[in-house]
Amino acid sequence: MSEVRDVIIIGSGPAGLTAAIYAARANLSPLLIEGEPSSTSDQPGGQLMLTTDVENFPGFPEGVMGPELMQNMRAQASRFGTEILTDKVTRVDFTERPFKVWVRDTEYQAQVVIVSTGAQSLMLGLDAERRLLGHGLSTCATCDGFFFRGHEIAVVGGGDSAIEEAAFLTKFADKVTIIHRRDELRASKILQDRAFANPKIEFLWNSRVTDIIGDDKVTGINLVNTVDGTESTLDITGLFVAIGHKPNTDLFRGKLAMNPDTGYLITQPESSYTDVAGVFACGDVQDDVYRQAITAAGSGCVAAIDAERWLEANE
Ligand code: NAP
Repeated sequence: MSEVRDVIIIGSGPAGLTAAIYAARANLSPLLIEGEPSSTSDQPGGQLMLTTDVENFPGFPEGVMGPELMQNMRAQASRFGTEILTDKVTRVDFTERPFKVWVRDTEYQAQVVIVSTGAQSLMLGLDAERRLLGHGLSTCATCDGFFFRGHEIAVVGGGDSAIEEAAFLTKFADKVTIIHRRDELRASKILQDRAFANPKIEFLWNSRVTDIIGDDKVTGINLVNTVDGTESTLDITGLFVAIGHKPNTDLFRGKLAMNPDTGYLITQPESSYTDVAGVFACGDVQDDVYRQAITAAGSGCVAAIDAERWLEANE
């Protein structure tokens, strides 16, 4: 029988690490299972490990590199006694308390589990994406639009996110080309109408990006026409991929309530409570709207406070 801990936190982005800082400082000695370094979806530190400059996290007037910010949060969680396990959770059992969490064959038990496994941006699947992410290639206009003042850039996708991001990017860029694989947008009519009326937005229909050009920063993209197969090149200095997100919730399917279409965990309004008492969720795994490091960190704080109060009431 393994030791029963107060709190296990699964996932180590801004949400999980903030939950760990608060839980550790509340004397709950959390175990944080941070993920596997080799994986793209479960990597320790989450999505900020794939970015470069972060200029919108309060407290860093000169900006901070994403990986450095995450290393600092990790050190802060450790300082207050968080035990950190660098591995991947393979199975959970939330049917009774104490809850059980497995890392391969090793079982861990806890009175409370905080889920902060995050989400991942869907990517085009091109080799160049790994090399150029954070170097002209981005998945977040809110985060990176500012870097493209006066540039000519492109957005891939035809849904609400792509059209909304393109409109936002016209505040900075001189020209934004929306590249869509069909000749009809999926986005809502009102967003479409605004985009069609925006003089800085152009459309490239029936087009698929086949490669991103640039050794250490984006200088252009190669395209193929999906109807007639013609190939072309577009010179741009920035590319935003906005083709959707996927929450990392496969582990919790059938165990926690989630949106049946999108897979995002459902939390009760203004709290981090899931449908299982004693299991809390925070960060991008339950947020398909804001998806910012600072909102994730804020919700990690909420989860730790909810967990602490729940433990006190149920012990
Ligand atoms: P989405 O609605 O799933 O749209 C994804 C878009 O990317 C589609 O146009 C799709 O093309 C394209 N796409 C998918 N895979 C691709 C690939 N491999 N290569 C090229 N293009 C690809 O995702 P989303 O725009 O992120 O929106 C997600 C949800 O959030 C939606 O329900 C949306 O309404 C909502 N949302 C709402 C707002 C708002 O109301 N203001 C803002 C943002 C998001 P096809 O059309 O050909 O499938």
